[in-house]
Amino acid sequence: MRQIYLDYAATTPVHPDVLGAMEPFYSSKYGNPSSVHAFGQEAKDAVEHARHVVSTALGAHPEEIIFTSGGTESDNFAVKGVAYALTKKGMHIITSAVEHHAVLETCHFLKDQGYTVTILPVDRYGKVDPDDVKKAITDQTILVSIMHANNEVGTVQPIKAIGEICRERDVYFHTDAVQSFGVLSTNVDELNVDLLSISAHKFYGPKGAGVLYVRKGTRIVPLIHGGGQEWNKRASTHNVPCVVGLGKAVELAMLKKDERIAHACELRDSLITSITNRIDQVNLNGHPTDRLPNNCHILVKHIEGEAMLLRLNALGIAASTGSACSSESIQPSHVLMAMGVSPIDAHGSLRLTVGRLTTPDDIAYVSDHLPGVVRELRSISPMAT
Ligand SMILES: *Cc1c(COP(=O)(O)O)cnc(C)c1O
Repeated sequence: MRQIYLDYAATTPVHPDVLGAMEPFYSSKYGNPSSVHAFGQEAKDAVEHARHVVSTALGAHPEEIIFTSGGTESDNFAVKGVAYALTKKGMHIITSAVEHHAVLETCHFLKDQGYTVTILPVDRYGKVDPDDVKKAITDQTILVSIMHANNEVGTVQPIKAIGEICRERDVYFHTDAVQSFGVLSTNVDELNVDLLSISAHKFYGPKGAGVLYVRKGTRIVPLIHGGGQEWNKRASTHNVPCVVGLGKAVELAMLKKDERIAHACELRDSLITSITNRIDQVNLNGHPTDRLPNNCHILVKHIEGEAMLLRLNALGIAASTGSACSSESIQPSHVLMAMGVSPIDAHGSLRLTVGRLTTPDDIAYVSDHLPGVVRELRSISPMAT
């Protein structure tokens, strides 16, 4: 059966060139980068090359790049690492209601430890108002963490403006750029950020590999203690193949960037247009223009997201939903709730995210089949009017 993957926001396939770059570090080049001998130095050179590639892509210095086990660790490290380092300065953290769980759950955890957390609201498009950040900052505030682009609805946040406010008030600013890296500009100076998270598997690199950018001079304590790797900030022997793969994926993400973005926008827009033309009572979620180039997120009234996913899956289409019963959660998406979507409507949410391997044919296939799926489900739905 035909298989159409439209869940690039969840993860991406490893690029063949990335796999090719990684392979020798599993077979012949197996040294530990901390070893003095030739095997070690070969591995170390590869890690340092990857670091150089990442730092160039972010407009940063190599010493500001810390390799981690992924986006979740990078987010945990940024939030807890700064919180623990600055306890004496203050114990107030500001974040938003639409953050990834890696940030939100970390903030909840810190709250239990006595920190104060302000969770900023968003508008109906999922946007944070920089003025709200300004008003929330107190002399106890030590960190603001606002994501660059949302993983569910694709809304892009005004990071530059928020960063300016944080700088004026001398408060550290972290952004989760896991979804935006490779498709939006993530130059750390342009964005005015002190800390920034990325994750390799969201841009055709391996799973279990990420980076936390930490601006020089930023006070942060390690979460993982042990050896002296990563300037004593993140112990453990480097996952050399994954670091190399991450570096290669970053390199590829910088190539033909405009072309890839245009490709994604075109497919996304044709998906949005055909769905909204062919199915009644659907709304586009997220910001109409300030959104990720590859994200189509819709609300289909009167049906269940899970039911849609199952029918689509039977047709070979892989999608995602923010509905209540989806995989690991019993609550409807916190992002949709924060945007003011009713729990009933949130049930019918459908996220389709395109990527490198998506073709116009794929979009046509989905556009041809989705209306039938919706019609059928609505005909048996107790929610349908
Ligand atoms: C995927 C994702 C993460 C988590 O990254 P992992 O590498 O899977 O741990 C964090 N934030 C956002 C916005 C994401 O999309």
